[in-house]
Amino acid sequence: MHSEAQSEAVQAALYVVATPIGNLEDLSDRARKVLSSVDLIAAEDTRHSGRLLQHSGIRTRLYSYHDHSQQDREERLLSILSEGRSVALISDAGTPLISDPGYSLVRKARQQGIPVRPIPGPCALTAALSVAGLASDRFVFEGFPPAKSQARRKHFESLQQESRTLIFYESPHRIESSLQDMQEVFGAGREAVICRELTKLWEAVESGSLQSLCTWLAQDDNNRRGEFVVLVSGAPATEQSALEAQAIRTLDVLLEELPVKKAAALAARLTGWRKNALYQLALERQDAHNKQEGSD
Ligand code: SAM
Repeated sequence: MHSEAQSEAVQAALYVVATPIGNLEDLSDRARKVLSSVDLIAAEDTRHSGRLLQHSGIRTRLYSYHDHSQQDREERLLSILSEGRSVALISDAGTPLISDPGYSLVRKARQQGIPVRPIPGPCALTAALSVAGLASDRFVFEGFPPAKSQARRKHFESLQQESRTLIFYESPHRIESSLQDMQEVFGAGREAVICRELTKLWEAVESGSLQSLCTWLAQDDNNRRGEFVVLVSGAPATEQSALEAQAIRTLDVLLEELPVKKAAALAARLTGWRKNALYQLALERQDAHNKQEGSD
């Protein structure tokens, strides 16, 4: 095994450091070493992160930084980095930038030629996927769904035909209504998994149909407490191909009366399929049609 971590000296760079999502033992040795050695730690909530640092015996100075920070705080960090000093970026839990602050800082640092180095580790998304038992070869991370039910349903509708495993973060206030909306849009029988309080005392991984998960949430207040990742299996292939066949039929009828672009746009509105995909398909079908006419 490569022992780079032991020999590696902390260099001038922005280190994006993953921290535990619950169990403090999950802070890696390399993360601890980097956090102890950098000049400054930029943290979303300095009080919250202060507890982790204290637990781990790290005494590096904390600097408050989040996505709503005034620009001058970001500029200050970039100027510290450009002077050749090292900064670690952490969030309240897990991997920074994954539904957490840091995107703007990382982007600007890279644009300015400042080295940006990952110190990988805990992340609720990958922890959940690793234990859910749903297809994990291809998946879509959707972050937090919209807070309001109407927007949320619309959002779920846009994902109805997605064949890859869907992964959402959700808050305890919305877990029940969000699951209800999922049940309505994706269907009561669609397989899903709720991962709650991963790596913590009340860790639970509950799987079943969306209907049975709604019942599970309703039956005990405790089931709705804590932090949640919800995974929904992708649309089954048969459902997908039935929808595809329907989209193609719609497109063919429209192509008899309308130009390609209009037919594709209207078919997208009628079937919920992506306009670009239908446009491409319409071009192919018209091409095939023209060839056939030419050979007749
Ligand atoms: N950056 C974090 C990561 O790497 O996972 C995510 C930050 S996001 C603001 C917080 C959300 O992540 C929570 O509302 C919950 O949906 C999910 N989450 C974080 N920790 C979790 C845990 N221990 N168990 C389940 N979900 C968790």
